[in-house]
Amino acid sequence: MKSVKGEAAYVRQRTLKSAIHCNGIGLHTGTKVSMTLHPGDPDTGIVFRRTDISGSDTTIPATWRNVVDDRLCTSLGNDDGVCIGSIEHLMAALSGCDIDNAVVEVNGPEVPVMDGSAAPFVFLIECAGVVEQERPRRALEILKRVTVGNHQRRASLAPGKNFSISFEIEFESPVIARQECTIIFANGTFKSDICRARTFGFEHEVTKLRETGFARGGSLDNAIVVSGDNILNQGGLRYDNEFVRHKVLDCIGDLYLCGGPILGHFHGYRSGHSVTHRLLKALFADDQAWRYTPLKDDLQASENRQAASVQAPA
Ligand SMILES: [Zn+2]
Repeated sequence: MKSVKGEAAYVRQRTLKSAIHCNGIGLHTGTKVSMTLHPGDPDTGIVFRRTDISGSDTTIPATWRNVVDDRLCTSLGNDDGVCIGSIEHLMAALSGCDIDNAVVEVNGPEVPVMDGSAAPFVFLIECAGVVEQERPRRALEILKRVTVGNHQRRASLAPGKNFSISFEIEFESPVIARQECTIIFANGTFKSDICRARTFGFEHEVTKLRETGFARGGSLDNAIVVSGDNILNQGGLRYDNEFVRHKVLDCIGDLYLCGGPILGHFHGYRSGHSVTHRLLKALFADDQAWRYTPLKDDLQASENRQAASVQAPA
């Protein structure tokens, strides 16, 4: 068991060893929320459950089919209209820690924002512990390139041996300007290079956002705030190019709504939640573009190759 993702990928499904709890506030609603991560049964995936609502179906499976809002964060909803918002950073942590099955109970409308990154969720998962389950893990293998968007914002998925992401952003702000980042997810790169990158916003946009009901819980404790040529957070940045790394983090979380690890390469140019969701829709609409495939480890793959070469006619 060497890597988070990549050549020596986990071949069996994984879940949490025990339940674990945290408290926080919702980034957009500003309300206090409690969240408990529970182990999940094999083949059940990630399922959210609202514990503050009764009288209707309160479970919301984490799938791209259930996305109901993707403007500033990703929100999911079920047929009864029960919703859960701001799921993407937790989903990124679950993806990065290779957790296939979990039940996420939340007593409010949003997953808590914590410090604006995925690191607190990775810490929670590590504290709970991880166990393997007796079911094979399957990956979504990309078979041909699928692209959505235009010259201003676009994203694509293309075939690849591992899961990798390259991302480019361009902002007029001199603090951000143009940044790019390419990550191959293997040997713990999610934890070392991505999971600590925080969400960000511009001071001049905050008032407007709050008037429209967003970012009410946002503060320097859970977001990088850019003001003109400056970053208002006292401690500065966690990575030189923390902004583009956070875009990669969002992307990992949104892509995990496909239901498992991806074997393929994602490229994003100035894309966000809604472009990523359109990309998943376009991918699944084309039967030639993807297939589910069981993950194999290196040893098993080389044994299979040897067996094939023995059986091959001389
Ligand atoms: Zn984010």
